[in-house]
Amino acid sequence: MPDHPILVVGGGLAGLMVALKLAPRRVRLLSQAPLGAAAASAWAQGGVAAALGVGDSPEQHAADTVAAGAGLVNPAVALAVAREGPARIRELLDLGVPFDRDATGAFRLSLEAAHGQPRVARVKGDLAGRAIMDILVAAVRAAPHVEVVENVALNSLLQAADGRVAGVVCDQAGRHSLFHGSDTVLATGGLGGLYRVTTNPGIAVGTALAAAYRVGATLRDLEFVQFHPTALDIGRVPAPLATEALRGHGAVLVNADGRAFMSAYHPAGDLAPRDVVARALQLEIGAGRGAALDARGAVGAAFPNEFPTVFAACMEAGIDPRLRPIPVAPAAHYHMGGIVTDAAGRTDVPGLWALGECASTGLHGANRLASNSLLEAVVFAHRAALALCADTDAGSGMAASQRLRAATPVPLLDASTLAMLRGAMGEDASLVRNAVGLQELLSRVQSWVTPLGEPNPLLVARLLVSAALARQESRGSHFREDFPLTQVVACSTLQRLPH
Ligand SMILES: Cc1cc2nc3c(=O)[nH]c(=O)nc-3n(C[C@H](O)[C@H](O)[C@H](O)COP(=O)(O)OP(=O)(O)OC[C@H]3O[C@@H](n4cnc5c(N)ncnc54)[C@H](O)[C@@H]3O)c2cc1C
Repeated sequence: MPDHPILVVGGGLAGLMVALKLAPRRVRLLSQAPLGAAAASAWAQGGVAAALGVGDSPEQHAADTVAAGAGLVNPAVALAVAREGPARIRELLDLGVPFDRDATGAFRLSLEAAHGQPRVARVKGDLAGRAIMDILVAAVRAAPHVEVVENVALNSLLQAADGRVAGVVCDQAGRHSLFHGSDTVLATGGLGGLYRVTTNPGIAVGTALAAAYRVGATLRDLEFVQFHPTALDIGRVPAPLATEALRGHGAVLVNADGRAFMSAYHPAGDLAPRDVVARALQLEIGAGRGAALDARGAVGAAFPNEFPTVFAACMEAGIDPRLRPIPVAPAAHYHMGGIVTDAAGRTDVPGLWALGECASTGLHGANRLASNSLLEAVVFAHRAALALCADTDAGSGMAASQRLRAATPVPLLDASTLAMLRGAMGEDASLVRNAVGLQELLSRVQSWVTPLGEPNPLLVARLLVSAALARQESRGSHFREDFPLTQVVACSTLQRLPH
């Protein structure tokens, strides 16, 4: 038996699922926030995409995924994930997730943008994330093989003399704590918290990407940040979401004068790809015409039952969506890029794994198909757990006696610089980018680095902005007004520190 437990960093869907499935291996699960809090997984409204409906198939799901990804999806990954999806959803059902079903037991599936079929398994309308997370948090807390350590924030990775990842350095109550692991699984979620206007938890600043990069792991596609078109424009931080399923139900985007505008931008109208809808909203808002989501006709009185989360957020802000359109604006929502992994979640650094939104598996390319991320989290958590349990090298590679390189903790970013960073990212690394803005942003980000070192959020921002500068074309979520066309060759960004 290995001397150390497997470390899982992050208690969202990816982290909880892999921790549970690793039984009977010993797991230590580290999370910056208490389990169930500050995890995007718990805020997911739409649900989990999978080919569960009559007339649907994994092949169609994979084709929609590939089309949404604008040339950068790995088709083999998309097909394999789509084929595995229904089994993983049935597993969640067996764990007790109360997916919405009709009288015959068939799943009630929502239609979301760029899906050719209704394919999103939901819970009580818009409560999928909360319901899944409640069940998994309870299961992990009850699991004897998992030790949960909360309120510890990943700072950096520990390495053995041979370069294998041997554990993590965490920030804990103002000091550094070291946790050793036979293997380390990163599952810290996305990086929307680098932006002022976001739907993500504030702690989602891509720390896993920085930590993995510092030990030589390959990162990919960092420039691709998906902006959700319909965050509630009510001044709340993070911005509550109005799920795309509302438009799937027939809700319509309108100007302040009530005129629908999406058909002028795209043949698919309100269900056009997310990046198209988000840029259209930005244009409408920028032109002073305003933007709102009108669900009065399509949802109306059914709002409290069908979309209880959105309804509550609206009512808290004094907006009754049954009576008037909901003010909306785009917000940073999902990061397609991340730490490159193989089909089981292994990175290219021994002992290091990455799952969920911080990973780049090849599924999302330049634009994620709606509700494919919860699916990706459960599919890859399942595979990683199988691989970690089966692979004797993976479990036993790091013995307690092995010599470690000295830990090199990274300085924390102070609150005022983080606020400046968020504002600057929203200005120049947002929905529409150009070389001048990106170059200025890069200089600003670099100017905030002190002699003490480069804090993780600044490193991630620097890499993202550099990738956005380097991609001199427009593709998926990355729109360069100075390079508005998509190039024929779809090259992918690869970044790596020399060892
Ligand atoms: C509002 C909203 C709605 C969404 N709706 C959907 C949807 O309907 N369907 C869908 O497929 N996707 C949806 N998404 C995207 C999806 O929720 C995420 O991509 C997915 O949940 C990511 O799961 P994860 O486990 O990787 O990360 P998360 O669920 O974000 O969990 C990250 C975990 O890491 C911890 N953590 C973060 N930083 C650190 C650190 N430095 N050290 C230690 N721990 C850390 C956090 O505390 C948390 O426990 C939505 C996202 C948002 C924000």
